[in-house]
Amino acid sequence: MKNMKTILLQGGHVVDPANQIDGIHDVLIENGVIKAVGQQLEVPTDADIRDCTGLVVAPGLIDIHVHLREPGQEYKEDLYSGLGAAAAGGFTGVACMPNTAPVIDSAPIVRDLVTRAKDVHKARLWVIAALSKGMKNHELTEMADLKAAGAVAVSDDAYQVQDPLFLRRAMEYAAMVDLPVLLHCENTTLSEGGVMNEGLVSTDLGLKGLPREAYELDVARAGLLAMLTGARTHILHVSTRGEAELVQHFKQKGAPLTAETGPHYWCITDEAVNGYNTHAKMNPPLRTQDDCEAMADAVANGIMDAIATDHAPHAGYEKAQEFALAPFGIVGLETSLALGVTHLVKTGKVTWTRFIDAMSTQPAKIIGVDAGTLTPGKTADVTVIDPNVTWTVDANKFVSKGRNTPFDGVELTGQAVLTIVGGEVVHG
Ligand SMILES: [Zn+2]
Repeated sequence: MKNMKTILLQGGHVVDPANQIDGIHDVLIENGVIKAVGQQLEVPTDADIRDCTGLVVAPGLIDIHVHLREPGQEYKEDLYSGLGAAAAGGFTGVACMPNTAPVIDSAPIVRDLVTRAKDVHKARLWVIAALSKGMKNHELTEMADLKAAGAVAVSDDAYQVQDPLFLRRAMEYAAMVDLPVLLHCENTTLSEGGVMNEGLVSTDLGLKGLPREAYELDVARAGLLAMLTGARTHILHVSTRGEAELVQHFKQKGAPLTAETGPHYWCITDEAVNGYNTHAKMNPPLRTQDDCEAMADAVANGIMDAIATDHAPHAGYEKAQEFALAPFGIVGLETSLALGVTHLVKTGKVTWTRFIDAMSTQPAKIIGVDAGTLTPGKTADVTVIDPNVTWTVDANKFVSKGRNTPFDGVELTGQAVLTIVGGEVVHG
């Protein structure tokens, strides 16, 4: 292991929800770990001193829902571009989804990704393995082996299990080996053929809708099965007010349930699809203004434990098809932080503490990794944020290979100026 620099982050606004810190402090990093957090810490000799006046110093941001496209679809994204994009966006760690080619459904594939990601020296990688072999919803994966190989969760993400008995068995197995189950909740019989939110805009455009009820129905099923099986169950990309209400209902009943929403679900609506804009096509789809308000509220009050992007890079020619044929998904790693600062924190809807909790502390807890705090002795994963800088999104400058964002050309506030992973500066 190489000799790590000592770094002193001086005079920043430290936000560390796990330790209830929200004030001006210094943070000292030595040998890759957090050495001390406090006021006017002594300056060690040979320290790399960073003036953080006016900046927010937070535990490294974590996105537990990204598609890095390895193995097999490196033309869309690879470990270098994906983990580089994460670091540039302020993320010190991300968890990747298994819908790759081949699917991440066996221990050797998990081990290979975990090993290779260590050589990238950008954000760290945690691997989510498939719940069923080939994500075909037919045969369970060897979850104990996958966990031993390093997988932190199981999910069939976009290929949601429809058979409730199969899902019950999967959740029982996951509970037995203590892996969280991440569910993309959608009843595909009810949503069959839909390409955008079912509503006035879809009628106007003559596009087949994805009714909110298809998703809400499946969140209800997930809540019931979480109660039945005791499996740690996490609802991916919540987009509707009704889903948030159901999550709240099951949490109040004591279900082992957590949930996430994504930045695009609190700041743009299905109006963005007008003109058949394929960069506004994702699943779940963009909803309505009322849903946006519900998502912001649900982040504020913690019903949405975490914020995650569902970063889904595609090649330009794939998105340049007619709307109905273009693939679902947008990139998110390099705009997520700013969309939160701009629309949640600066508007006063969400406090810095809750925002960092949703961007770091809770995501770490959901996938059960030892991160998301600045507690002395912990690995030094730290993000320094300029909360006031305004900048204009330029998709052509993304580190990600994906350019598919509905936010190109939009002015936002807030940016990661320094990303530190294990005491190593990987961005800034
Ligand atoms: Zn996804």
